[in-house]
Amino acid sequence: MTVPESHPRHESLQAREALADGVEDGYVAPQGLIAHGRGEAFDYLIGEATSPPAQRQARAAAAALVDAENAVVSVNGNVAALCPAQVASLQRALGCGVEVNLFHRSDERVSKITDRLAAAGCTDVLGADPQARIPGLDSKRALVAEDGIHEADCVLVPLEDGDRTEALVAMGKTVVAVDLNPLSRTVRRASIAVVDEVTRALPAIEEAADDLTRDEAATVLDGFDSEQARADALDHIRQRLGRLADDARSPRE
Ligand code: ATP
Repeated sequence: MTVPESHPRHESLQAREALADGVEDGYVAPQGLIAHGRGEAFDYLIGEATSPPAQRQARAAAAALVDAENAVVSVNGNVAALCPAQVASLQRALGCGVEVNLFHRSDERVSKITDRLAAAGCTDVLGADPQARIPGLDSKRALVAEDGIHEADCVLVPLEDGDRTEALVAMGKTVVAVDLNPLSRTVRRASIAVVDEVTRALPAIEEAADDLTRDEAATVLDGFDSEQARADALDHIRQRLGRLADDARSPRE
């Protein structure tokens, strides 16, 4: 189904269509639809646009990627459905690795996602043959490529769960998360979390990275406080809801 561009919720409906197509094609897990719904609810509260705190978080995320020796983007089914071209563009801009990593892993799903990423322009996609494990994780998400996530000093994990974020941090990696829910364990555990919708966040990170030298990146990272950034994301929602409540109370003409 094509969603008419004139529809007021065009982008949101387009995303749902992409995910439903992904489930039909067998590379998005049905559970991914539920995760997306949770994200959508938070996006409604945020205002369905990149907030000022998210812009600052995207700059810090860009700094971590620019500063890294060996950064890898971890891709799951939802990310492959929603923004394969943005992942490819980020890979071109930053020269980072791209690895498929799935909670509901099967060789068939990995292969379909790898093909989809390659069709969008990603190169050397890892994850089909994971030889290493992330210590402390029991699920198939622990399986990683030795020369990919296992060796990376910085991992960008859009739409991650809290356990894996924590396990990657425990390995000493800088973990950059993208997650619309400022209350999630992922956002609380990540080294840097961008509280924004993934299709907006990845281009924002890429644009911020364009402007950063390595020296500047180090300065940005020195000045970044992840708890303050999370508080700013919560304040953004609180202030927005306060304004909306005032509007609702004010007498209509
Ligand atoms: P945690 O373990 O971190 O507490 P969780 O149990 O909510 O999180 P999941 O069920 O894996 O973890 O959900 C994935 C997260 O991804 C959710 O917090 C949701 O807000 C977020 N999310 C879903 N879709 C998007 C999207 N398109 N852009 C950004 N974030 C999203």
